[in-house]
Amino acid sequence: MFLHDKKPLHTVKVDGPNPKFAAMLQEQLGGANGELKAAMQYMSQSFRIKDPEIKDMMLDIAAEELSHMEMVSMLITQLNGGELQANQATVGEVQTHVLTGLAPGLINASGHPWTADYVNVTGDLVADLLSDIAAEMRAKVVYEYLYRQIDDKGVRETIDFLLNREEAHNQLFRKALGKIAQTGSSRDFGVTEDSKLYFNLSTPGGQAFDLSHIHPPH
Ligand code: MN
Ligand code: MN
Repeated sequence: MFLHDKKPLHTVKVDGPNPKFAAMLQEQLGGANGELKAAMQYMSQSFRIKDPEIKDMMLDIAAEELSHMEMVSMLITQLNGGELQANQATVGEVQTHVLTGLAPGLINASGHPWTADYVNVTGDLVADLLSDIAAEMRAKVVYEYLYRQIDDKGVRETIDFLLNREEAHNQLFRKALGKIAQTGSSRDFGVTEDSKLYFNLSTPGGQAFDLSHIHPPH
């Protein structure tokens, strides 16, 4: 079960309204690397995990991602301000001004609705953790792009907090991957002769990579 704590994970207080930046931030609410995707991906993956420690960690991070989703929604709400002003918003966020009465929608920065297609679940913990590590890295990169494009100190502080949390998750997933590195799809990884071949198809002057010393991912 989940509990609702009325206090947000971290203070969210913007310096002033900015509907245009609210539209850009929608990417981290309803986009491919956003908070809803992260929460749904980790929760969906958790159900068949046998390692109790990794299962708990997966659900703890999923729950935290929901609190990130709450923080991003609070940011968007404050940035949208109190008045409908669609002419100050970019394409995606126009929906917020003409349809949802300034409530953040589950849409990305271009107005495309969130989809479960963003969620990766294979039932193989090695493949799933590699997916999660990459997802955290992408979430961080998107936050960095957003950070560079806003001067508002309150917004910057919240984005900085969130991207540091994604780094923490990234480290946790890497640690979990290390723990189960020799299981599932990683078992017997890269042991056949074919798995060590490099096809040097670049001509002229192609360089052949030596795959013989590559070890399984961990
Ligand atoms: Mn997050
Ligand atoms: Mn995360």
